[in-house]
Amino acid sequence: MTELRSQDCLSRVPAALRLDTHCIGGRWQPSADAARFAVTDPATGATIADVADGSALEATQAADAASTALPGWRATPARERARLLRRWHAAIVEHTEALAALISAEQGKPLAEAAGEVAYGASYVAWFAEEALRIQGDILAAAGTGQRMWVQKHPVGVVAAITPWNFPLAMIARKIAPALAAGCTVVAKPAEDTPLTALALAELAAQAGLPPGVLNIVAASRERAPAVVDAWLADGRVRKLTFTGSTAVGKHLARASADTLKKVSLELGGNAPFIVFEDADLEAAVAGLMAAKFRNGGQTCVCPNRVYVHDSVHDAFVERLREAVTGLTVGPAWEPDVRIGPMINARAVEKIGQHLADAVAQGARLITGGMRVREADGPHYVAPAVLTGATPAMRLACEETFGPVVPVFRFHDEAEVIRAANDTPYGLAAYFYSRDARRIARVAPQLDTGMVGINEGAIASEVAPFGGVKESGYGREGSRYGLDDYLQTQYLCEGQLG
Ligand code: NAP
Repeated sequence: MTELRSQDCLSRVPAALRLDTHCIGGRWQPSADAARFAVTDPATGATIADVADGSALEATQAADAASTALPGWRATPARERARLLRRWHAAIVEHTEALAALISAEQGKPLAEAAGEVAYGASYVAWFAEEALRIQGDILAAAGTGQRMWVQKHPVGVVAAITPWNFPLAMIARKIAPALAAGCTVVAKPAEDTPLTALALAELAAQAGLPPGVLNIVAASRERAPAVVDAWLADGRVRKLTFTGSTAVGKHLARASADTLKKVSLELGGNAPFIVFEDADLEAAVAGLMAAKFRNGGQTCVCPNRVYVHDSVHDAFVERLREAVTGLTVGPAWEPDVRIGPMINARAVEKIGQHLADAVAQGARLITGGMRVREADGPHYVAPAVLTGATPAMRLACEETFGPVVPVFRFHDEAEVIRAANDTPYGLAAYFYSRDARRIARVAPQLDTGMVGINEGAIASEVAPFGGVKESGYGREGSRYGLDDYLQTQYLCEGQLG
């Protein structure tokens, strides 16, 4: 039954956007060895598409195409690059329903949330269409007589973009848009679980008039992903790697990029603290936590992984939270009112189960959720859970759970909670709720994270620099800072002028 519904969801996608081969040099092509891999409905595991499985050969062909297209694209006036990005943006927005259906079918998030992801991803394309016009250099005060000195910004060259499955559209759009705005060409590999949305995006870019070879996508299974990516890492023509995914893989790719000294941006894992001080507006704090935590079923790098609540408001906060969490509807993406879809795959469900079992074994109390639900619709639905009595020794305090689980830690004073919040190798996002202006000014700069939400749970935006510190990576996506990662600085000195 669910399988049929999944197919119904896909049937909203026009045939022109249901692509299952690589996009290389403006052509859609299968793998030379005809290998294919299955893309599955995350709820049931049923195959929803068979996609060409790339190898080092297709990766090299994509790099060839991107290198060939580079001189023409970097010489294209910024105004024209901006115009094409605006056309791509318009095409994405126009196909919101189809793209949302693709996202929901392959990734599982509720359709309304998937439409939100389309708008969110598209906003980066619109933003960087405008930023393309603002790539500027500097005229320097010359150091010597008869000299002229100035600074120009140039595109870094061919960019390799590797993306995860949790936001199949937004993560890749956030990389391709600034790269194209800067005058770079792109080779990209989406995640095994979610290649369909990326392929549809490439088709829309082609329809918008993007020249052949400027954007190339090679799909690959988990088994063959390393071969594709390694070919790009070893290729001296690829001058930049931009990666979003786990810290372990990010470290491996950074090491492997060293031989060709690529410019590298890494958007890696997080372990976000969410602090509720005794002077917080509890209602706002619960609403902020619900928004931050349960987006994409908790499978979000910036979602709070550890919730610290002051002793004096702990019980009142937990009761409000329990009520809000038990009100969440779990189910297939295309059912109305569903807030939490299936987890991405069996590995994800297993990890959530292990984190819950470990926490309970170490004394945490599960006050709601945690069990599998909707099993008739598939094995990957998890009821959102709240645990109290969480401690730093538990796995869910040290690792990203990446699921709908809220562990609540009690704290007594400000210095103690700041220490606890920073006691992690990760540093992506942190959140805190307080109505005390002096506390806000004091606490925010002490949090070792790239992003801080203050009385706010929804912080991601195209106007802001998204990224982390410590083992959450380096580089920024979005905002004017996001373009720097795709530009290099050239200093020019002209002499003999006087
Ligand atoms: P992942 O396993 O690191 O995979 C990310 C990408 O890397 C996928 O395309 C994957 O391909 C590829 N990959 C995996 N192993 C590789 C290897 N040895 N060589 C080359 N490529 C390889 O991460 P994920 O499970 O997809 O995504 C979840 C993680 O992403 C979480 O840690 C989350 O916090 C992080 N994330 C961070 C941000 C951010 O902005 N900081 C945003 C979203 C997600 P396959 O899919 O084929 O394995």
